[in-house]
Amino acid sequence: MRRGTRSGLFTMVAVHSTIRGPALGGCRLWHYDDTRAALRDVLRLSRAMTFKSAVAGLPLGGGKGIILAPDPASPTRRGLRADALRDFGDTVAALGGQYVTAEDVGTSARDMETIAAQTPHVTGLARRRGGSGDPSPWTALGVQEAIKVCCDRVLGSPSLKARTIAIAGLGHVGARVAALCAKEGATLLLTDIDRSKRRLADELGARWLEPGAALQAASDVYVPCALGGVLDHASAARLGAPIVAGAANNQLADDDVAELLAQRGVLWAPDFVVNAGGIVNISVELEPQGYDARRARTRVRRIGDTLRQIFDAAIATRTTPLDAAMALARERLAESAAQAATPRA
Ligand code: NAD
Repeated sequence: MRRGTRSGLFTMVAVHSTIRGPALGGCRLWHYDDTRAALRDVLRLSRAMTFKSAVAGLPLGGGKGIILAPDPASPTRRGLRADALRDFGDTVAALGGQYVTAEDVGTSARDMETIAAQTPHVTGLARRRGGSGDPSPWTALGVQEAIKVCCDRVLGSPSLKARTIAIAGLGHVGARVAALCAKEGATLLLTDIDRSKRRLADELGARWLEPGAALQAASDVYVPCALGGVLDHASAARLGAPIVAGAANNQLADDDVAELLAQRGVLWAPDFVVNAGGIVNISVELEPQGYDARRARTRVRRIGDTLRQIFDAAIATRTTPLDAAMALARERLAESAAQAATPRA
């Protein structure tokens, strides 16, 4: 955690694990009530990245970055924003490649270019700069794949035609998931705290709900695509869908909620499996042969296979999808640790 010399803002990087490779995770530009809240968040999110990459079978560890925005309404004025991004770049550079950054909530591919002025350990640069660009369409593709696998399990068919899908949060990912599902004939219920997003609902012929109403609306699938912590004991009891599959990180306020959902017959697709599309795409950028969108698409679609494997394991071991996903991630981390400990001939 460092205070930037240009901006005076705090920047943080948490490296949770490098056992499978460099710790990759996005840079979040966000306002927190205090630095302790930000620190808790960066630690929690970096741990989630370790499990996300491991479960996706990527040669990457888990990390996360935060730039603390001083103002809740606008995450930094224009000049201050560039200074803060360059300060964050210095923090990344100080870790000498242990941490590789990417975009996240509040940052964009253009911001990655600003950070790249300070450090080479940046991914998600624009396509014209040889990068893989915005990860959000890939995250959305993975979410759509996950929704289909869940529909197949619970409703007997992967088709989205005439399924009612409630999406909360119409940002970079949620808006794309909505468009993909609309294209396949789904009936959409959409919400966002930003009322300007109502235009998208009108464009897609979707029903607009007040924020908070999507979770309990009668639907086939609830797709959380805003921030974390949406499922706690109280909200899980009010769920209106038999399936939850969305992009938001850390959807469960508490791990016990996975058990409660399973008891209620709700299929919850673990967030860190569902939303791995962006990082899978970025991992293609880091491969020696360079970025290729077709290779990325094939890899992202494998999120569906991973989910099936996890749901099967959960049934076989009489546990929750969360426990089965964590077990798969731990198995892969243990394999990497064993390989690292084996002396080379
Ligand atoms: P974003 O900031 O572009 O969009 C978030 C949207 O949610 C915004 O439109 C915001 O107004 C809305 N929102 C916030 N609180 C809400 C609430 N209580 N109810 C309804 N809407 C609300 O973010 P994004 O890039 O679309 O990411 C969405 C989520 O997915 C985040 O949790 C992020 O960490 C996760 N995620 C994103 C990616 C990616 O590729 N962008 C990858 C993995 C995970």
